[in-house]
Amino acid sequence: MRREVAQYCNENLHLLNLKQWVIKVSEDLPPDDAWADVEVSENLWEATIRISNDFFKETPESQRRILSHELMHVHDAGLERFINSLEGILGSQTFDLLNKAWDTETERVAEALSHVVCSLLPVPDFTLAKVLKKKEAGARRPRP
Ligand SMILES: [Zn+2]
Repeated sequence: MRREVAQYCNENLHLLNLKQWVIKVSEDLPPDDAWADVEVSENLWEATIRISNDFFKETPESQRRILSHELMHVHDAGLERFINSLEGILGSQTFDLLNKAWDTETERVAEALSHVVCSLLPVPDFTLAKVLKKKEAGARRPRP
């Protein structure tokens, strides 16, 4: 199912003005109790999304909003690279303060924008019900 999520993201990137990017979906889980997180490449137009198993229990509309949130973070890639480049330049206390403010503000922006821009994306269906339906259909298919 994670492969289908990657396909969905890549097919709709142009709707969010991210068409130069390639989105990968990792088999790894995000930390904590997050539905998802995203990590952008340091030097490529590539970002990797990690999705929790709970993501697949969400409604299709919620899944769309969650993916919109992660894709909004991709727009922050250049600023995030800049912040990360300061780690060796600033003292650790100053960098930690800056990094904490960055984390808080980028979350606030991604969350706010995701509620607005998610309506630009088609409603996906990566729900467990769909997965189970697919498995049932596969099980009923006659074997050669
Ligand atoms: Zn976020």
